[in-house]
Amino acid sequence: MQSGKMRKQGLSGKRHAGHGGGHGAGHASGRVTTERDVRVGVFRQPAMQTPVLVLNASYEPINICGARRALVLVLKGVARTEEEQGAVLHAARMRVAMPSVIRLLEYRRIPHQTRALSRKNILLRDRNSCQYCSVILTAGELTLDHVIPRSRGGLSTWENLVACCHNCNRRKGNQMLHELTDMKLQREPRPFSLHTSRHIMRMIGSADAAWRKYLYFEAEPAA
Ligand SMILES: [Zn+2]
Repeated sequence: MQSGKMRKQGLSGKRHAGHGGGHGAGHASGRVTTERDVRVGVFRQPAMQTPVLVLNASYEPINICGARRALVLVLKGVARTEEEQGAVLHAARMRVAMPSVIRLLEYRRIPHQTRALSRKNILLRDRNSCQYCSVILTAGELTLDHVIPRSRGGLSTWENLVACCHNCNRRKGNQMLHELTDMKLQREPRPFSLHTSRHIMRMIGSADAAWRKYLYFEAEPAA
């Protein structure tokens, strides 16, 4: 029996959204703003890695993940799509709207603990910008610098590791900062806290209308 009257509408409505999309899909890399720089630096990836905002069951923004991961959470029934990107994924037997914002169905306690110390998280904390000369680069163009060099007892900790361009890294070499007159840290390196994540989510999200309403509802503590 031929049961499924397939809804051709959805399938044919959007051809391949990928190429030459005339109308301003958010991807067009026209002018470059700071937010865009950060966004491109941190997430310079194809569609499946487009950043997706993750909300707790309480609608509180808690994280950003790639679209691929977000889709897995949605398909597993762990999260649900709150906002769509507009793009549709055509897989073998289904079409799935790519999420832009997802919400976890079960409330997750967010520990006050910091994130794992990793290269990726340090670059994220430092917004992919060299902490000495402030240049914003892609992850591949950055290295990690031990503020107190390892050769002089410096540890691999949140407080002693910063994102650094190769130029500055070479210039600094094995010297301590107080031995250099022309190099200074842009800011004191700290562990990656939820506060840091929120700040980054806002910075990235300010370029994305669909995210905004989830990111700005909290009262900011007076600075
Ligand atoms: Zn630099």
